[in-house]
Amino acid sequence: MRCGFCLPACPTFRETGIEAESPRGRIALMKAVADGLMPPDEAFEQQMNHCLGCRACEPACPADVKYGQLIEQARDAIEDHTDTHRWWIKPIRRTVFKSLFPHPKRMRLLGGALKLYQRSGLQTAARKTGVMKLFPEHLRDMERILPDSSGQGVIRRIGDRHPAKGQPIAKVGLFRGCLMDVLFTDTNVHTVDLLTEAGFEVFIPDSQTCCGALHAHSGEAEGARKLARSNVRAFREAGVDYIVSNAGGCGAILKEYDHLLHEDGEWREDAAWFAGRVFDISDLLVKFGRVPAFDRKADGEPVRITYQDSCHLRNVMRSSDAPRRLMRQVPGAEFVEMAEADRCCGSAGIYNLTQPEMAGQILEHKMEHANATGARVLLTSNPGCLLQMKLGVQRHGDPGKMQVAHVVDFLHERMGGR
Ligand code: SF4
Ligand code: SF4
Repeated sequence: MRCGFCLPACPTFRETGIEAESPRGRIALMKAVADGLMPPDEAFEQQMNHCLGCRACEPACPADVKYGQLIEQARDAIEDHTDTHRWWIKPIRRTVFKSLFPHPKRMRLLGGALKLYQRSGLQTAARKTGVMKLFPEHLRDMERILPDSSGQGVIRRIGDRHPAKGQPIAKVGLFRGCLMDVLFTDTNVHTVDLLTEAGFEVFIPDSQTCCGALHAHSGEAEGARKLARSNVRAFREAGVDYIVSNAGGCGAILKEYDHLLHEDGEWREDAAWFAGRVFDISDLLVKFGRVPAFDRKADGEPVRITYQDSCHLRNVMRSSDAPRRLMRQVPGAEFVEMAEADRCCGSAGIYNLTQPEMAGQILEHKMEHANATGARVLLTSNPGCLLQMKLGVQRHGDPGKMQVAHVVDFLHERMGGR
Protein backbone atom coordinates (compact mmCIF):
# COMPACT_ATOMS: atom_id res chain seq x y z
CA MET A 1 0.00 0.00 0.00
CA ARG A 2 2.87 2.36 0.81
CA CYS A 3 0.41 4.53 2.77
CA GLY A 4 3.06 5.75 5.21
CA PHE A 5 0.91 5.32 8.35
CA CYS A 6 3.88 3.56 9.92
CA LEU A 7 6.25 6.52 9.51
CA PRO A 8 5.27 8.55 12.61
CA ALA A 9 5.48 5.38 14.74
CA CYS A 10 9.09 4.72 13.75
CA PRO A 11 11.73 6.10 16.17
CA THR A 12 14.53 6.23 13.57
CA PHE A 13 12.33 8.10 11.07
CA ARG A 14 11.30 10.53 13.80
CA GLU A 15 14.94 11.16 14.69
CA THR A 16 16.17 11.62 11.10
CA GLY A 17 13.17 12.43 8.89
CA ILE A 18 14.80 10.29 6.18
CA GLU A 19 12.57 7.93 4.17
CA ALA A 20 15.27 5.23 4.05
CA GLU A 21 15.23 5.26 7.89
CA SER A 22 11.50 4.47 7.93
CA PRO A 23 9.67 1.11 7.73
CA ARG A 24 8.31 1.99 4.27
CA GLY A 25 11.78 2.98 3.07
CA ARG A 26 13.39 -0.15 4.48
CA ILE A 27 10.76 -2.39 2.87
CA ALA A 28 11.40 -0.61 -0.48
CA LEU A 29 15.14 -1.32 -0.10
CA MET A 30 14.47 -4.98 0.75
CA LYS A 31 12.25 -5.26 -2.33
CA ALA A 32 14.90 -3.65 -4.53
CA VAL A 33 17.42 -6.24 -3.31
CA ALA A 34 14.93 -9.11 -3.72
CA ASP A 35 14.16 -7.92 -7.28
CA GLY A 36 17.87 -7.74 -8.10
CA LEU A 37 17.81 -3.94 -8.63
CA MET A 38 20.52 -3.35 -6.01
CA PRO A 39 23.10 -5.57 -4.32
CA PRO A 40 22.87 -6.40 -0.60
CA ASP A 41 25.99 -4.27 -0.06
CA GLU A 42 27.36 -2.55 3.02
CA ALA A 43 25.06 0.48 2.61
CA PHE A 44 22.05 -1.84 2.57
CA GLU A 45 23.36 -3.70 5.60
CA GLN A 46 23.87 -0.47 7.52
CA GLN A 47 20.35 0.68 6.74
CA MET A 48 18.93 -2.61 8.01
CA ASN A 49 21.14 -2.42 11.10
CA HIS A 50 19.84 1.07 11.91
CA CYS A 51 16.40 -0.46 12.44
CA LEU A 52 15.78 -1.02 16.16
CA GLY A 53 13.53 -3.99 15.51
CA CYS A 54 11.08 -2.40 17.95
CA ARG A 55 8.17 -3.28 15.65
CA ALA A 56 6.20 -0.15 16.50
CA CYS A 57 5.43 -0.05 12.76
CA GLU A 58 3.31 -3.22 12.97
CA PRO A 59 0.36 -2.09 15.10
CA ALA A 60 0.35 1.17 13.04
CA CYS A 61 -0.02 -0.65 9.72
CA PRO A 62 -3.58 -0.97 8.35
CA ALA A 63 -2.45 -3.69 5.90
CA ASP A 64 -1.00 -5.88 8.70
CA VAL A 65 2.44 -5.96 7.10
CA LYS A 66 4.62 -8.35 9.13
CA TYR A 67 7.64 -6.08 9.26
CA GLY A 68 9.36 -8.17 11.97
CA GLN A 69 9.45 -11.19 9.66
CA LEU A 70 10.75 -9.08 6.77
CA ILE A 71 13.63 -7.55 8.73
CA GLU A 72 14.64 -10.96 10.09
CA GLN A 73 14.69 -12.43 6.57
CA ALA A 74 16.69 -9.42 5.35
CA ARG A 75 19.27 -9.86 8.13
CA ASP A 76 19.43 -13.58 7.45
CA ALA A 77 20.13 -12.83 3.77
CA ILE A 78 22.83 -10.28 4.73
CA GLU A 79 24.42 -12.90 6.95
CA ASP A 80 24.80 -15.18 3.90
CA HIS A 81 26.75 -12.40 2.08
CA THR A 82 29.85 -12.73 4.24
CA ASP A 83 31.83 -10.37 1.99
CA THR A 84 29.75 -7.42 3.19
CA HIS A 85 30.73 -8.00 6.82
CA ARG A 86 33.56 -6.53 8.81
CA TRP A 87 35.58 -9.72 9.24
CA TRP A 88 35.79 -9.71 13.02
CA ILE A 89 32.08 -9.28 13.81
CA LYS A 90 30.93 -12.70 12.72
CA PRO A 91 33.36 -14.86 14.75
CA ILE A 92 32.76 -12.85 17.93
CA ARG A 93 29.01 -13.01 17.51
CA ARG A 94 29.04 -16.71 16.68
CA THR A 95 31.16 -17.45 19.78
CA VAL A 96 28.82 -15.55 22.08
CA PHE A 97 25.62 -16.81 20.44
CA LYS A 98 26.68 -20.44 20.05
CA SER A 99 29.10 -21.10 22.88
CA LEU A 100 27.74 -18.90 25.66
CA PHE A 101 24.04 -17.95 25.67
CA PRO A 102 22.65 -21.49 25.05
CA HIS A 103 24.66 -22.98 27.95
CA PRO A 104 23.26 -22.19 31.42
CA LYS A 105 26.38 -23.54 33.18
CA ARG A 106 28.68 -21.26 31.17
CA MET A 107 26.32 -18.35 31.80
CA ARG A 108 26.53 -19.03 35.55
CA LEU A 109 30.32 -19.15 35.31
CA LEU A 110 30.25 -15.80 33.52
CA GLY A 111 27.92 -14.48 36.22
CA GLY A 112 30.33 -15.78 38.87
CA ALA A 113 33.26 -14.04 37.19
CA LEU A 114 31.29 -10.81 37.03
CA LYS A 115 30.38 -11.18 40.71
CA LEU A 116 34.06 -11.61 41.55
CA TYR A 117 34.92 -8.50 39.50
CA GLN A 118 32.16 -6.48 41.18
CA ARG A 119 32.81 -7.55 44.78
CA SER A 120 36.54 -8.23 45.03
CA GLY A 121 37.57 -4.61 44.58
CA LEU A 122 38.65 -5.17 40.97
CA GLN A 123 35.81 -2.99 39.69
CA THR A 124 36.79 -0.11 41.97
CA ALA A 125 40.46 -0.53 41.01
CA ALA A 126 39.63 -0.57 37.29
CA ARG A 127 37.75 2.70 37.67
CA LYS A 128 40.36 4.38 39.89
CA THR A 129 43.36 3.42 37.78
CA GLY A 130 41.73 4.69 34.60
CA VAL A 131 41.77 1.26 32.90
CA MET A 132 38.11 1.80 31.99
CA LYS A 133 39.14 4.84 29.95
CA LEU A 134 40.59 2.44 27.39
CA PHE A 135 37.00 1.49 26.46
CA PRO A 136 34.55 3.58 24.43
CA GLU A 137 32.30 5.85 26.48
CA HIS A 138 29.09 3.87 25.90
CA LEU A 139 30.76 0.65 27.12
CA ARG A 140 32.06 2.46 30.22
CA ASP A 141 28.53 3.69 30.90
CA MET A 142 27.13 0.18 30.51
CA GLU A 143 29.69 -1.22 32.91
CA ARG A 144 28.60 1.32 35.54
CA ILE A 145 24.93 0.29 35.43
CA LEU A 146 25.32 -3.49 35.40
CA PRO A 147 23.34 -5.03 38.28
CA ASP A 148 25.07 -7.11 40.94
CA SER A 149 25.47 -10.55 39.43
CA SER A 150 24.40 -13.52 41.54
CA GLY A 151 26.32 -16.12 39.54
CA GLN A 152 23.61 -18.57 40.63
CA GLY A 153 20.35 -18.63 38.74
CA VAL A 154 16.86 -19.20 40.05
CA ILE A 155 16.93 -23.01 40.32
CA ARG A 156 20.09 -23.04 42.42
CA ARG A 157 18.60 -20.35 44.61
CA ILE A 158 15.13 -21.77 45.28
CA GLY A 159 14.73 -25.10 43.43
CA ASP A 160 12.60 -25.97 40.42
CA ARG A 161 9.17 -26.87 41.90
CA HIS A 162 6.88 -24.54 43.82
CA PRO A 163 3.34 -25.35 44.98
CA ALA A 164 0.51 -22.86 44.63
CA LYS A 165 -0.82 -21.02 47.68
CA GLY A 166 -4.38 -22.23 48.10
CA GLN A 167 -6.36 -24.11 45.43
CA PRO A 168 -4.10 -24.41 42.34
CA ILE A 169 -5.40 -22.63 39.23
CA ALA A 170 -2.92 -24.10 36.73
CA LYS A 171 0.64 -25.36 36.31
CA VAL A 172 2.97 -22.70 34.97
CA GLY A 173 6.43 -23.21 33.44
CA LEU A 174 8.78 -20.30 34.12
CA PHE A 175 11.03 -19.22 31.26
CA ARG A 176 14.09 -18.07 33.20
CA GLY A 177 16.13 -16.51 30.35
CA CYS A 178 19.92 -16.68 29.94
CA LEU A 179 21.29 -13.24 30.87
CA MET A 180 18.12 -12.62 32.88
CA ASP A 181 18.84 -15.60 35.11
CA VAL A 182 22.38 -14.60 36.09
CA LEU A 183 21.98 -10.80 36.16
CA PHE A 184 18.39 -10.60 37.47
CA THR A 185 18.10 -13.74 39.61
CA ASP A 186 16.11 -11.84 42.24
CA THR A 187 13.50 -10.88 39.63
CA ASN A 188 13.10 -14.54 38.66
CA VAL A 189 12.73 -15.49 42.33
CA HIS A 190 10.15 -12.71 42.82
CA THR A 191 8.29 -13.91 39.72
CA VAL A 192 7.92 -17.35 41.29
CA ASP A 193 6.66 -15.76 44.54
CA LEU A 194 4.08 -13.65 42.71
CA LEU A 195 2.85 -16.64 40.69
CA THR A 196 2.48 -19.00 43.67
CA GLU A 197 0.80 -16.26 45.72
CA ALA A 198 -1.66 -15.77 42.83
CA GLY A 199 -2.57 -19.48 42.85
CA PHE A 200 -0.24 -21.01 40.25
CA GLU A 201 1.93 -24.09 40.71
CA VAL A 202 5.34 -23.23 39.20
CA PHE A 203 7.83 -25.55 37.54
CA ILE A 204 11.16 -24.36 36.07
CA PRO A 205 12.46 -26.90 33.52
CA ASP A 206 16.25 -27.06 33.85
CA SER A 207 16.67 -28.30 30.26
CA GLN A 208 15.38 -24.99 28.82
CA THR A 209 17.87 -22.75 27.05
CA CYS A 210 18.26 -19.22 25.63
CA CYS A 211 15.13 -17.99 23.75
CA GLY A 212 17.06 -17.24 20.53
CA ALA A 213 15.83 -13.65 20.17
CA LEU A 214 19.29 -12.16 19.63
CA HIS A 215 20.07 -14.92 17.11
CA ALA A 216 16.88 -14.31 15.12
CA HIS A 217 17.36 -10.53 15.15
CA SER A 218 20.96 -10.81 13.98
CA GLY A 219 20.45 -13.03 10.96
CA GLU A 220 21.20 -16.35 12.70
CA ALA A 221 17.78 -17.90 12.03
CA GLU A 222 19.04 -21.48 12.06
CA GLY A 223 20.62 -20.93 15.48
CA ALA A 224 17.32 -19.50 16.74
CA ARG A 225 15.40 -22.51 15.39
CA LYS A 226 17.73 -24.93 17.16
CA LEU A 227 17.16 -23.18 20.50
CA ALA A 228 13.41 -23.02 19.86
CA ARG A 229 13.26 -26.82 19.40
CA SER A 230 15.08 -27.36 22.73
CA ASN A 231 12.69 -25.05 24.57
CA VAL A 232 9.58 -26.56 23.00
CA ARG A 233 10.80 -30.02 24.05
CA ALA A 234 11.61 -28.88 27.62
CA PHE A 235 8.19 -27.31 28.27
CA ARG A 236 6.22 -29.97 26.35
CA GLU A 237 7.79 -32.69 28.50
CA ALA A 238 7.03 -30.66 31.63
CA GLY A 239 3.31 -30.78 30.76
CA VAL A 240 2.60 -27.17 31.78
CA ASP A 241 -0.63 -25.28 31.13
CA TYR A 242 1.10 -21.92 30.57
CA ILE A 243 4.62 -20.70 29.86
CA VAL A 244 5.41 -17.43 31.59
CA SER A 245 8.10 -14.90 30.79
CA ASN A 246 9.11 -11.76 32.69
CA ALA A 247 11.22 -10.29 29.86
CA GLY A 248 9.34 -8.72 26.94
CA GLY A 249 12.18 -9.44 24.49
CA CYS A 250 12.24 -13.17 25.31
CA GLY A 251 8.45 -13.48 25.56
CA ALA A 252 7.97 -12.04 22.06
CA ILE A 253 10.17 -14.59 20.31
CA LEU A 254 8.69 -17.44 22.41
CA LYS A 255 5.26 -16.29 21.23
CA GLU A 256 6.51 -16.52 17.64
CA TYR A 257 8.04 -20.01 17.79
CA ASP A 258 5.11 -21.18 15.63
CA HIS A 259 6.30 -18.86 12.86
CA LEU A 260 9.98 -19.68 13.43
CA LEU A 261 9.32 -23.42 13.01
CA HIS A 262 6.44 -23.23 10.52
CA GLU A 263 8.46 -24.92 7.77
CA ASP A 264 9.63 -27.71 10.07
CA GLY A 265 7.10 -30.53 9.60
CA GLU A 266 8.36 -32.46 12.62
CA TRP A 267 8.10 -29.53 15.03
CA ARG A 268 5.30 -27.37 13.57
CA GLU A 269 2.53 -28.77 15.78
CA ASP A 270 4.51 -28.69 19.03
CA ALA A 271 5.71 -25.16 18.26
CA ALA A 272 2.09 -24.02 17.81
CA TRP A 273 1.21 -25.73 21.14
CA PHE A 274 4.07 -23.82 22.79
CA ALA A 275 3.36 -20.41 21.22
CA GLY A 276 -0.31 -20.58 22.23
CA ARG A 277 0.64 -20.97 25.91
CA VAL A 278 3.13 -18.11 26.27
CA PHE A 279 2.13 -15.18 28.49
CA ASP A 280 3.91 -12.29 30.10
CA ILE A 281 3.67 -12.47 33.91
CA SER A 282 1.44 -9.36 34.13
CA ASP A 283 -1.02 -10.73 31.59
CA LEU A 284 -1.18 -14.13 33.26
CA LEU A 285 -1.79 -12.57 36.69
CA VAL A 286 -4.52 -10.25 35.40
CA LYS A 287 -6.26 -12.79 33.13
CA PHE A 288 -6.17 -15.95 35.21
CA GLY A 289 -4.58 -15.31 38.62
CA ARG A 290 -5.89 -14.39 42.06
CA VAL A 291 -4.01 -11.11 42.15
CA PRO A 292 -2.73 -10.63 45.71
CA ALA A 293 -3.66 -7.55 47.69
CA PHE A 294 -0.65 -5.22 47.74
CA ASP A 295 0.49 -3.06 50.65
CA ARG A 296 1.56 0.55 50.99
CA LYS A 297 5.29 1.33 51.11
CA ALA A 298 6.79 0.27 54.47
CA ASP A 299 7.13 3.93 55.62
CA GLY A 300 3.56 4.68 54.47
CA GLU A 301 4.77 7.51 52.20
CA PRO A 302 2.95 7.81 48.85
CA VAL A 303 5.19 7.42 45.82
CA ARG A 304 4.75 8.55 42.22
CA ILE A 305 5.53 5.88 39.64
CA THR A 306 5.66 5.72 35.84
CA TYR A 307 6.15 3.01 33.24
CA GLN A 308 8.22 2.53 30.07
CA ASP A 309 6.67 -0.07 27.76
CA SER A 310 8.85 -2.89 26.48
CA CYS A 311 8.45 -2.63 22.68
CA HIS A 312 8.26 -6.37 22.18
CA LEU A 313 5.81 -6.80 25.01
CA ARG A 314 3.59 -4.06 23.57
CA ASN A 315 3.98 -4.52 19.81
CA VAL A 316 4.43 -8.28 19.55
CA MET A 317 2.80 -9.76 22.66
CA ARG A 318 0.26 -6.89 22.46
CA SER A 319 0.32 -6.42 26.23
CA SER A 320 0.28 -2.88 27.58
CA ASP A 321 -2.78 -2.75 29.80
CA ALA A 322 -1.99 -5.56 32.27
CA PRO A 323 1.19 -4.09 33.83
CA ARG A 324 -0.57 -0.72 34.19
CA ARG A 325 -3.58 -2.35 35.86
CA LEU A 326 -1.33 -4.08 38.38
CA MET A 327 0.64 -0.92 39.16
CA ARG A 328 -2.61 1.00 39.68
CA GLN A 329 -3.73 -1.58 42.27
CA VAL A 330 -0.82 -0.76 44.60
CA PRO A 331 -2.02 1.44 47.49
CA GLY A 332 -0.02 4.63 47.93
CA ALA A 333 1.48 4.44 44.43
CA GLU A 334 0.36 7.28 42.17
CA PHE A 335 0.68 6.09 38.58
CA VAL A 336 1.52 8.84 36.07
CA GLU A 337 1.51 8.00 32.36
CA MET A 338 4.73 9.11 30.66
CA ALA A 339 4.38 10.84 27.27
CA GLU A 340 5.40 8.47 24.48
CA ALA A 341 5.87 5.55 26.89
CA ASP A 342 5.08 3.33 23.90
CA ARG A 343 8.20 4.50 22.00
CA CYS A 344 11.43 2.50 22.09
CA CYS A 345 14.02 3.58 24.68
CA GLY A 346 16.92 2.70 22.35
CA SER A 347 17.94 -0.50 24.12
CA ALA A 348 16.60 -2.95 21.49
CA GLY A 349 18.64 -6.05 22.30
CA ILE A 350 22.25 -5.04 21.64
CA TYR A 351 21.35 -1.95 19.57
CA ASN A 352 22.67 0.39 22.30
CA LEU A 353 26.06 -1.33 21.94
CA THR A 354 26.15 -1.56 18.14
CA GLN A 355 24.49 1.80 17.34
CA PRO A 356 25.36 3.92 20.38
CA GLU A 357 24.82 7.27 18.65
CA MET A 358 21.22 6.71 17.56
CA ALA A 359 20.45 4.82 20.79
CA GLY A 360 21.81 7.78 22.81
CA GLN A 361 19.74 10.29 20.83
CA ILE A 362 16.54 8.28 21.36
CA LEU A 363 17.34 7.87 25.06
CA GLU A 364 17.84 11.61 25.55
CA HIS A 365 14.34 12.32 24.20
CA LYS A 366 12.92 9.50 26.29
CA MET A 367 14.42 10.99 29.46
CA GLU A 368 12.85 14.40 28.77
CA HIS A 369 9.47 12.67 29.06
CA ALA A 370 10.52 10.55 32.05
CA ASN A 371 11.80 13.56 33.99
CA ALA A 372 8.60 15.51 33.20
CA THR A 373 6.49 12.92 35.08
CA GLY A 374 8.20 13.76 38.39
CA ALA A 375 8.12 10.03 39.19
CA ARG A 376 10.39 8.60 41.90
CA VAL A 377 10.22 5.11 40.42
CA LEU A 378 10.37 4.25 36.73
CA LEU A 379 9.20 0.72 36.00
CA THR A 380 9.78 -1.54 33.01
CA SER A 381 9.04 -5.14 31.98
CA ASN A 382 12.25 -6.11 30.25
CA PRO A 383 15.86 -6.29 31.52
CA GLY A 384 17.29 -4.49 28.46
CA CYS A 385 14.88 -1.57 28.89
CA LEU A 386 15.66 -1.50 32.61
CA LEU A 387 19.40 -1.12 32.02
CA GLN A 388 18.83 1.47 29.28
CA MET A 389 16.57 3.55 31.53
CA LYS A 390 19.14 3.33 34.34
CA LEU A 391 21.66 4.66 31.85
CA GLY A 392 19.20 7.42 30.94
CA VAL A 393 18.71 8.44 34.58
CA GLN A 394 22.47 8.52 35.05
CA ARG A 395 23.09 10.61 31.92
CA HIS A 396 20.07 12.91 31.84
CA GLY A 397 18.27 12.55 35.17
CA ASP A 398 18.90 12.54 38.90
CA PRO A 399 19.87 9.08 40.23
CA GLY A 400 19.22 10.35 43.77
CA LYS A 401 15.60 11.11 42.91
CA MET A 402 14.57 8.48 40.39
CA GLN A 403 14.94 4.71 40.78
CA VAL A 404 14.49 2.24 37.93
CA ALA A 405 13.01 -1.20 38.62
CA HIS A 406 11.28 -4.18 37.09
CA VAL A 407 7.50 -4.23 37.60
CA VAL A 408 7.82 -7.70 39.18
CA ASP A 409 10.29 -6.46 41.81
CA PHE A 410 8.11 -3.46 42.62
CA LEU A 411 4.97 -5.62 43.04
CA HIS A 412 6.91 -8.20 45.06
CA GLU A 413 8.16 -5.53 47.44
CA ARG A 414 4.55 -4.49 47.96
CA MET A 415 3.56 -8.04 48.91
CA GLY A 416 5.35 -7.33 52.17
CA GLY A 417 6.23 -10.34 54.34
CA ARG A 418 4.26 -12.67 52.09
S1 SF4 B 1 4.21 -0.98 6.07
FE1 SF4 B 1 1.99 -0.74 6.35
S2 SF4 B 1 1.76 1.32 7.24
FE2 SF4 B 1 3.84 1.21 6.37
S3 SF4 B 1 3.64 2.02 4.27
FE3 SF4 B 1 3.40 -0.22 4.11
S4 SF4 B 1 1.18 -0.57 4.24
FE4 SF4 B 1 1.52 1.54 4.99
S1 SF4 C 1 11.02 -1.96 13.78
FE1 SF4 C 1 11.03 0.06 14.80
S2 SF4 C 1 12.88 1.10 14.02
FE2 SF4 C 1 12.49 -0.65 12.65
S3 SF4 C 1 11.27 0.20 10.98
FE3 SF4 C 1 9.77 -0.60 12.49
S4 SF4 C 1 9.30 1.15 13.84
FE4 SF4 C 1 11.18 1.69 12.65
